[in-house]
Amino acid sequence: MTLTGDLLIGAAQVPATAGTMKALNPATGEYLEPEFAFGGVAEVDRALRLADEAFDSYSHTGLAERAAFLDLVADKLEAVKDELAARTSLETGLPAAQFEGETLRTAANFRKFATVVRQGRFLQAAVDPAQPSRQPAPRLDHRLQKVALGPVVIFGASNFPISYSVAGGDTASALAAGCPVVLKAHNAHPGSSEIQGRAIQQAVAEAGLHEGVFSLIRGAGNEIGEALVDHPLVRAVTFTGSEGGGMALYRRAQQRPDPIPVFTEMTSVNPTFVLPAALAARGAEIGAGLAQRAQYNVGQACLKPAVLLAVDGPGFAELRDAARAEVEKAAARTMLTPGIHDAYTGNVRRMQDSGAIRIGAGQAPIHAWDGQSLLYEVTGEQLLSQPALREEVFGPSVLLVRLTGLEQLQEAARVFRGQLSATVHAEVSDHAVAVQLLPILERRTGRIVFNAFSIPQEATSASVHTGPFPATSDSRFTSVGMSAIERFLRPVTYQNFPDELLPEPLREANPLHLWRLVDGELTRD
Ligand code: NAP
Repeated sequence: MTLTGDLLIGAAQVPATAGTMKALNPATGEYLEPEFAFGGVAEVDRALRLADEAFDSYSHTGLAERAAFLDLVADKLEAVKDELAARTSLETGLPAAQFEGETLRTAANFRKFATVVRQGRFLQAAVDPAQPSRQPAPRLDHRLQKVALGPVVIFGASNFPISYSVAGGDTASALAAGCPVVLKAHNAHPGSSEIQGRAIQQAVAEAGLHEGVFSLIRGAGNEIGEALVDHPLVRAVTFTGSEGGGMALYRRAQQRPDPIPVFTEMTSVNPTFVLPAALAARGAEIGAGLAQRAQYNVGQACLKPAVLLAVDGPGFAELRDAARAEVEKAAARTMLTPGIHDAYTGNVRRMQDSGAIRIGAGQAPIHAWDGQSLLYEVTGEQLLSQPALREEVFGPSVLLVRLTGLEQLQEAARVFRGQLSATVHAEVSDHAVAVQLLPILERRTGRIVFNAFSIPQEATSASVHTGPFPATSDSRFTSVGMSAIERFLRPVTYQNFPDELLPEPLREANPLHLWRLVDGELTRD
């Protein structure tokens, strides 16, 4: 595929109206061809008008038809796997092999959502038949299903340029719900975004859908994002990135004349608690394992286990030494963008200014935007008194917290803000301590991991990627996993309807053979 750098608005390739940019190879400092178009308010308006036009037909596609479209997107992504991996590698400085895997997982996610659509359980169809002779008053027939919200704006993330970007889980789940998507591409990987966008654009055309089902917009500065959030036709927004950016967009959406939901996934340090018997039995193994996971994607992962907490005692020295050894052997690697590199440097400085002591460092940086692996240590008292030590440092650093006892461990667990995940390492003899700790963690996180690491991330029916603020702006919903579709749906009751006017999933004969709640009983009859 020859990259043109155009915006993809519906079926059209739209040249620049507001300047251009080139992608930067952060490993070499070289700019890559071609020029990529920036659009403005007019392109935002065009994309959202098309999305709105597409909504009625797309949201009413049959389940089989919509599922077939999602499978087709998966086919298209797999067909460009090598090209996509190579270009993404150039734009991120990360190995192409990583992106071959990411492409396949991203395609697989579309197929999983195709299955979700075919099964139709996401509709949550419910039938409460009429009770004409009910006393003291008869009950009318009530039937409920979930319907699509409307056009959705998705901000592609920088750090997983495929699985959290143009063809990522937000796009797959919104399309599965029946919502057209206007995608705001992240400027860190414009070529990768175009390849993914064209794959989806082709699938829309081949499936015979309205062209407005998918558009890809790119712009300079905050104006384009603001215009997308402000547009009167958008019905929901998703975002993955910084707390500052996410909250600016969230607040903006609440100030619209008609406020709309903004599902942001922002920041998390994913604290790991090592309980005493586990520390004594496996301190070195846990220290090395965690330090190794923290290097994944050069630490630019929302699930990076950034803070490791243990009570000083048997196994603590082994934990620290093993973590240090793992960090020291790590090469400095290119970070995704100069801005993310500079933010890493600044956040490490903030950690030091807050009293953290550097106890380990990886190999020195060679290139300008290399991120050096770092290990810091603080006392429990410092963690409790310095909120800055509990904030995300986006990059390959780990903070080890030396606690004085189990009381301080519980106190430390209580001071963290909302998290995407928290991890507990425990032996059976630690279970009494775990029983005290788990309710504290449950209040603060969307996922509790036991004797394992939170990376890699799974996208399944039982997995979520959410947590109380500031991990996300709405802990009731997830951005990863099959229930991510719920963000883009709302319930509608059809009361006292003639059968032929009911949506197919709610008709008396259950022609789609769906699982439905009929008079309170789950049945396919
Ligand atoms: P970001 O600065 O929050 O930007 C994400 C996207 O939102 C970009 O497309 C950006 O557009 C747009 N945006 C941000 N603020 C906006 C505003 N006020 N108005 C309109 N649009 C806005 O995130 P990033 O560029 O990916 O990385 C910056 C930092 O975010 C990182 O250093 C890291 O700390 C954090 N981050 C965290 C995670 C995580 O999973 N926890 C993931 C990614 C990033 P422009 O690019 O045009 O500004």
